[in-house]
Amino acid sequence: MPIIRVALNVPVDTLFDYQSNDATLHDIGLRTCVPFGKKRVTGVIIAVGSETRISVEKLKSAHCIFREIEPLPAALLDLFHFCSQYYHHPLGLVIMNGLPVMLRGNKPVKLKESSNNVQFSLTEAGKQIDLSSIPARQRVARRLLTEFHHTTTLTSPQAKQISPRAGKLLQEWIQLKWVSAMPIPTRVTKAAAIPPLTAEQEIAVSAITTDIKQFNTWLLHGVTGSGKTEVYLRIIEHVLAHGKQALILIPEISLTPQLETVFRARFPTIHLVSLHSGLNDTERLTGWLQAQRGQAKIILGTRLAVFTPLPDLGLVIVDEEQDSSFKQQDGLRYSARDLAIFRAKENNIPVVLGSATPSLESYYNALNGRYHSVRLLSRAIKNAALPLIQCIDTRTNKTQEGLSEPLIKALGKCLTEKHQSLVFINRRGYAPALLCKACGWTAICQRCSSRLVVHLRDKKLCCHHCGHRENFPRACPHCGNQDIAPFGQGTQRVEETLAAHFPTARILRIDRDSIRRKNAWQDILHAIHAQEVDILVGTQLLAKGHDFQNLSLVGILNADSSLYSTDFRASERLFAQLMQVAGRAGRANVSGHVLIQTEFPDHPLYHALQKHDYDALALTLLAERKTAGFPPFVYQALLRAEAHSIAIVLDFLKQAASLANPPSSVELFDPVPAQMLRLKGLERAHLLIQSSSRRQLQAFMAEWYARINTLPAHKVRWVLDIDPLEF
Ligand code: ADP
Ligand code: ZN
Ligand code: ZN
Repeated sequence: MPIIRVALNVPVDTLFDYQSNDATLHDIGLRTCVPFGKKRVTGVIIAVGSETRISVEKLKSAHCIFREIEPLPAALLDLFHFCSQYYHHPLGLVIMNGLPVMLRGNKPVKLKESSNNVQFSLTEAGKQIDLSSIPARQRVARRLLTEFHHTTTLTSPQAKQISPRAGKLLQEWIQLKWVSAMPIPTRVTKAAAIPPLTAEQEIAVSAITTDIKQFNTWLLHGVTGSGKTEVYLRIIEHVLAHGKQALILIPEISLTPQLETVFRARFPTIHLVSLHSGLNDTERLTGWLQAQRGQAKIILGTRLAVFTPLPDLGLVIVDEEQDSSFKQQDGLRYSARDLAIFRAKENNIPVVLGSATPSLESYYNALNGRYHSVRLLSRAIKNAALPLIQCIDTRTNKTQEGLSEPLIKALGKCLTEKHQSLVFINRRGYAPALLCKACGWTAICQRCSSRLVVHLRDKKLCCHHCGHRENFPRACPHCGNQDIAPFGQGTQRVEETLAAHFPTARILRIDRDSIRRKNAWQDILHAIHAQEVDILVGTQLLAKGHDFQNLSLVGILNADSSLYSTDFRASERLFAQLMQVAGRAGRANVSGHVLIQTEFPDHPLYHALQKHDYDALALTLLAERKTAGFPPFVYQALLRAEAHSIAIVLDFLKQAASLANPPSSVELFDPVPAQMLRLKGLERAHLLIQSSSRRQLQAFMAEWYARINTLPAHKVRWVLDIDPLEF
């Protein structure tokens, strides 16, 4: 009897064998439901054979194999295998992480094909079918085929008019590959005008398309507003013309609708699916299946979309490749950008990493020739120059409620000129702390090592890490003093201050609190574009990708805190973020001006920013990293662990370290508590491993991982984090 080898949705790093009387080699990649202990568990069939090391008495039988959808293609299984090996995570969990939720359960999926927006047409095979070969008693089939010969395409309602049974027949013909279903092209109200490429764009497009049939990692390094999107569109067009699919990964859900609109307008007849966390389970599965069947040609998605099955993949684009949201920060800690590169290599196709401020890893790879770099140094729109960036020294220009006089003046001027402005502060809430002026007590979260943020509007103190909320205390719980007050600035407080300064201005706050309502984000964007807003106050949600044509002034508050952080990536991130925010100003015909409030106007980071000189800063930071022995000059991994008390965690890490036997090229550091010791009630620590050889680090980690797995760890949760971004 055939034996199936299954990757199960359980945290054990091994495959499990089961008997299955009807399994064949064609079932590899299908889901199966099997007994596991007393439960039924779902897994994916990885191999089918006739041998097993399990004794006959112990070998159980699979309950069933789900055959309602096509098996996962081999290329996707390869990606899962690689991901499992590289991140040292059980294959079953890797696969389940990558599948749509509806495929993770142990039920067959039933999708009502919503056929209202599709149209059917005969495939090449379907066109070969002779009407006379269909028996006369199959009246509906004959009429349907005749109709296809007349009209070439049929919509569902048209088919239903022929016969109520036509729908079922069409589904059968789809199975037989006689008929294909395609979405009805959406009518675009305004055909998007295609701009002629700038000289720089032309060079980029032609370089990438010339090599479109082979693997290369391209770093498309273009200043904000340089028209990277147009470059993407042109390469995608090229790929579509060859009948291939394009996968575009983007960092944030907030960007999806806009980019989606741009893509749909350019390719109105192309089937595009958008895969992001805002979809419900059915929508996600539907899009995923359309991609798997090769119907969807453009797949636009966030991190998880890197695991979409794509039979005709011809191009991968990773927009804002430096964005940390491409790295999953819990469970399977994968980097979608790095997996995208792996996928492109396996498919022998190009991958394009786009950014105005590439990660130092990618920049370094471009410098040393591993990636091909294409640069866009000027803005695409004629007359749109890069904004003028200046610092306001807050040691001499004292701030009131967080705002300095020069910034207030500039905002006022902007208002009279009827241009929009943006005040950027990366802290939501009213104030980042509640402080007792008598004894210095501040409200902290009981479950996290963090301060509670004051949310004045709902009269609550909130933890931004675990979501805990509590009421304001009446007095200081420490000394009884009643004079406790919000300390520092958050978006809500800045909004309030600005409203006091400019009573007639229309001010809009944009942060995670204000976009929580469904469609809020759409409404906000609409208001901004319709010029119904004068001053925007917002967090980094506003920084990315948006094109606000009338925005001329950007004010930046409280950026200094990241300048002297202990995190070696803090400068890189701050620079990228400020460059992005600054890039919102002066994108069209209004000139842009950026004012940064700082106590350190002479910091090299602000100097580089003022000169728009990414390279100067990147080279400085790279030199520092080389001296200090940080990535990209070394490769890192973390063993992370958490438990109710730090003592248990450190003890576990020490035991793990004692099992390690690293070669001289791999360095193991002592366990240390995490920068944020407590999170959601657990205490955390980690152990850093690094090496200048990725291969040796990987080999060591694989072996060590197997050993750590033998440790009793019922009180500790642990995970390996390869190429960690957070410490
Ligand atoms: P980036 O993503 O590089 O910041 P965008 O792709 O958002 O830049 O482009 C910035 C602006 O330039 C957009 O308004 C876009 O329509 C416009 N644009 C892009 N390419 C061209 C071009 N070749 N000619 C004129 N305008 C262009
Ligand atoms: Zn007190
Ligand atoms: Zn908390």
